[in-house]
Amino acid sequence: MKYVFLDERRSMVENQIRGRGIKDERVLLAMESVLRHEFVPKEMMRDAYCDRPLPIGEGQTISQPYMVALMSECLELCGDEKVLEVGTGSGYQSAVLSVLAREVVSIEVRKSLFLQAGKVLDLLGYGNVRVVLGDGSLGYKEGAPYDRIIVTAACECVPDALPEQLSEGGILVIPVGSAFVQSLLKIRKVRGEFIEEPITSCVFVPLARGPKD
Ligand code: SAH
Repeated sequence: MKYVFLDERRSMVENQIRGRGIKDERVLLAMESVLRHEFVPKEMMRDAYCDRPLPIGEGQTISQPYMVALMSECLELCGDEKVLEVGTGSGYQSAVLSVLAREVVSIEVRKSLFLQAGKVLDLLGYGNVRVVLGDGSLGYKEGAPYDRIIVTAACECVPDALPEQLSEGGILVIPVGSAFVQSLLKIRKVRGEFIEEPITSCVFVPLARGPKD
């Protein structure tokens, strides 16, 4: 039988996620259900449930489990939302969002990661996720508006297109700051105005501008 890291996943949820204050039961269940080890390179599988980000190739990383849970909780998902993710990477955050929302569009600028993430998400049956190849700093107009937008790469400032593509009452979660450290912001659109709340400091790989190969 295939080893599925059940104990590792449960202890990740209890110690790293619930233990650090994540309360949204839907988020906790989603984190328990998604097979994180399927989203990391084979040689990293044994480390998949460790309390840190891991390299996924091309100088990019799969975020630390706690950060995935925290950002997911910030999105306040009930299950009927359309979500845009900028920075598909491994596809792990997309899978977690897939469980929590109605529909997920995830955009990735690096072709090899776009292809690999699409393959894994398909294989695992996350049918409500569409992965798109492109520059997410422009959002993804074809699918707009979105009830929620999550950016998983560091931005110097909020790209204009993202608040523009957010629905009324929507939430944008985005790391904003320098290349070395950012502030994770939760931005809510209320009657056309944007209300910003800093959540924590964080470190993400930088958002690329323009196409990459
Ligand atoms: N959410 C991912 C984390 C990925 S790291 C996960 O769960 O694994 C950030 C990702 O953003 C990288 O894959 C990087 O290639 C991608 N990225 C960087 N700039 C981008 C841009 N302008 N548009 C789309 N994706 C971008």
